Amino acid sequence: PDPEIGEELLSAGRKARDLDRAHVFHSWSAQASLDPMTVVKTEGPHVWDGEGRKLIDFSSQMVNTNIGHGHPAVVAAIQEQAARIATIAPAHVNDARSEAARLISDLTPGDLNHVFFTNGGADAVEHAVRMARVHTGKTKILSAYRSYHGGTDLAINITGGARRIPVDRAAAGTAHFLPPFTYRSSFHAEDDAQEGQRALEHLEQVITLEGPSTIAAVILESVPGTAGIFVPPAGYLEGVRELTRRHGILFIADEVMAGFGRTGRWFGVDHWGVEPDLLTFAKGVNSGYVPLGGVAISDEVYQTFAETPYPGGLTYSGHPLACAAAVATITAMQEEGMVENAARLGTEIFGPRLQELKDRHPSVGDVRGLGAFWAVELVQDRTTKEPLDIGELVAECKKLGLLPFVAENRLHLTPPLNTPDEVVRQGLDILDQALEVADRAVQG
Ligand code: PMP
Repeated sequence: PDPEIGEELLSAGRKARDLDRAHVFHSWSAQASLDPMTVVKTEGPHVWDGEGRKLIDFSSQMVNTNIGHGHPAVVAAIQEQAARIATIAPAHVNDARSEAARLISDLTPGDLNHVFFTNGGADAVEHAVRMARVHTGKTKILSAYRSYHGGTDLAINITGGARRIPVDRAAAGTAHFLPPFTYRSSFHAEDDAQEGQRALEHLEQVITLEGPSTIAAVILESVPGTAGIFVPPAGYLEGVRELTRRHGILFIADEVMAGFGRTGRWFGVDHWGVEPDLLTFAKGVNSGYVPLGGVAISDEVYQTFAETPYPGGLTYSGHPLACAAAVATITAMQEEGMVENAARLGTEIFGPRLQELKDRHPSVGDVRGLGAFWAVELVQDRTTKEPLDIGELVAECKKLGLLPFVAENRLHLTPPLNTPDEVVRQGLDILDQALEVADRAVQG
């Protein structure tokens, strides 16, 4: 163990683990066979596991701890807020929420000038859909097959990824389309330009076949995250904006994972100058120090609810601790240039270094991403692109001191945006070494 971690923390960790296995019911898991990692300490870009081992946090936990662990300004803001007004009914004005709403209105694109706060991402998606339905008087929501929009009943049915299938209830008023994803193209495209063009033609066909008069909104992650971090080809999101506008359909950008600096811009849509009608956020808005999400709403959608009441609300809408954490987080990100740093990490370190790893390691089928948002896709064979089982690779990464975010046959490399260069390089050195385990599985 790291000498910084004393026996007291380790024994508290062992006790927590025993209680966890006895009483905690975990997300997305078969409970009995689960072997969760214990965390006994977090600091900056590092976490320490139950054996006292120090790991570089390339997961940012759920791709949310964008400013790293234990940022002193955010911790202090939460403490100050807790002592003054820890909780208040959402009907009452409170300074933390007002200031958070102002900052978010300023940062989000276009005329997204109004903010409805939720507890996280899934309920932000639920409310964005409800707003779109009431505003348009239409019901249907189109979403991408390769997507993740949350775990609640509607959000999971909108989700296109395989997580939907066990709970799919063919929710009324939802339909899916294929998004662009050049590496595993559904459109037999040879390059990004062709993929983007064909994906747009396909979406227009789906809109026409479903009937524009039935469709309230198209919801899309600007850069799909959980489904594999695939950056849309130039022109695609602009094309979706044009299509939706032309057919009288709202465009909901789901920025829950890509938003708040992850991609090297404040929001993913900013890379392409796209202004959605509704924008969902959570995670990075306050780095997850207190649960928070929300919907940024355009002036036009806002007008629908100017005289008619909005049919929805939450006890913790705009919770003071969560909003105080958001104000402190956004301020720290601005003062410390974290969004610019994420962009630089992408172009100077991740991009070139991952390309080089791909060139040397036969198990790596594809690397892709931008900013501090990267995926390494592992395959058994580069020609067939058959996915590789990465259990051993993940175990090797952890043994060597790297904690990646794991999804199917992919490692997602999504460190805090302010991770020092030398720590990012160290993490990639560990990955380089660990990939030898995956290469053996391919060659053997
Ligand atoms: N939308 C996107 C794009 C997400 O990545 C997630 C979470 N991974 C959600 C929605 C759901 O957010 P939450 O888990 O906070 O409900």
